[in-house]
Amino acid sequence: MIYFDNAATTQLDPSVVDVMDDVLRNHYGNPSSVHALGRDARVIIEDARRKVAAQLGAKPSQIFFTSCGTEALNTAIFGAVQSLGVQHIISSPIEHHAVIHSLDVVKKTTSVKVHMVRLLADGHIDMLHLQELLAENPQALVCLMHANNEIGTLLNLEETAHLCAAHKAYLLIDTVQSLGKYPINLGHLPVHFAACSSHKFHGPKGSGFLYLHPEIKIPPFIHGGGQERSMRSGTENTAGIAGLARAFDLSCLQMDQNRRTITEIRDTMAELLKAHCPGIVFNNDLTERGLYNLINVTFPESAVSDMLLQRLDMEGVCASGGSACASGAVKGSAVLQAIGRDQAGTAVRFSFSKFNTLAEVHECIRILKGILS
Ligand code: PLP
Repeated sequence: MIYFDNAATTQLDPSVVDVMDDVLRNHYGNPSSVHALGRDARVIIEDARRKVAAQLGAKPSQIFFTSCGTEALNTAIFGAVQSLGVQHIISSPIEHHAVIHSLDVVKKTTSVKVHMVRLLADGHIDMLHLQELLAENPQALVCLMHANNEIGTLLNLEETAHLCAAHKAYLLIDTVQSLGKYPINLGHLPVHFAACSSHKFHGPKGSGFLYLHPEIKIPPFIHGGGQERSMRSGTENTAGIAGLARAFDLSCLQMDQNRRTITEIRDTMAELLKAHCPGIVFNNDLTERGLYNLINVTFPESAVSDMLLQRLDMEGVCASGGSACASGAVKGSAVLQAIGRDQAGTAVRFSFSKFNTLAEVHECIRILKGILS
C-alpha cells in the first residue's frame, strides 16, 4: 500500500500509539472524579495543555480541547456571532466545509452579512480586496485558512493578522493543515481564534483544539457538565488529548527534518509527473507559498482518466480527488472551480508525510505510467 493521502489524514506515529495505549490501559479515570485515578487523568490533560500551549507561544488557559477541527471552527464562528457584536464575516470560497457550511447557517439564521474575498488566479487571497472589504465592513470576523487542503495555498499569517488588527476585525485562522508543519507563534500575533486537528500530524482522529486570544470570551458550543472551563462540556477524551499533545510535540521537534524529507519527496514526484505524464496541469503552488507536502494535478481527459483514482486504488495507491470528504468520489472540486480551473480531466491530490519514501514515489509513477499507457 502506498499512502499518498496525508492531507486527508495521517498514520499514527508509533510513539503516539504508545502514549495512548498507556492512557487507555492505565489512566482510565474520569478527569472530573476527585479520587486518585480521576486526578491522575486530570494531570495528563493539563500536562498536554501545557505542552500544546508552549509550542504555540500561548498560555495553557488559551487552549480548549475539542473533538476535531470542525468543532473548533464551529465553536469560534457561532460564538463570535453570538457574543462579539460581529456584523460582517469575511471569508473565502476555498475554505473547508466546516467553515463554508457554518457560514451558510449564519446567513440563514442571523442578520450577519457574509462576504467572500476574491482569489488570485493561483488561488492565493487577493490581499487588496481583503483590505477593501475590511474598510467597507466594520465589526467584522475574518475566517481564513492558513493552508488550503486541496491546492495548498499558504496565507501570509502575519500580514493578514496585522491587516485585521488595523481594522479592528476579529481573526479566525483555520490552521488544521499547517500546524506541526510550520512554526506558528500565536502569542506574537493578533489572532483571536485558531483551530487544530490532531489527525493531520500523526495524532489520533477525534481530537483537536481551539486556541482563544486571552481577551476573547465566547459562549460554549456544547453545553453540559462544564468541562474545559465550561467552554466544551463532555467527559474529556484523555487518550486522544494525550495523543494530540505527543503528536504535536513530535511534529514541532521534527519540523525541519520532516520538511526537508517531504519536500524532496514532493519535488521528485512533481518532476517525474512532468516527465512521464504528458498534458498534466499543476493546480498547486510548488513554491514556498504552497504547502510542501502536497501536489494537485489535473490529468487530461482520456479513456482512463475518469477511473484514475479507482485504478490507482486497485494498484495499492491511496490518493484523493480533492478534499477528504470527496475522497474517492468522482466529482468536480469547488476549490478548483473557485480558482477558475478547467473542470475537464481528472484532478488528483497526492499528499505526503514523513512516513513516505522516494521508492514509493518511483513505484507510484511506474503504476501511473501503466494505467495511462
Ligand atoms: N479545516 C481543514 C483545512 C481541513 O483540511 C479539515 C479536515 O480535512 C478540517 C478543517 C476539519 O478537521 P476535522 O477533520 O478534524 O474535523
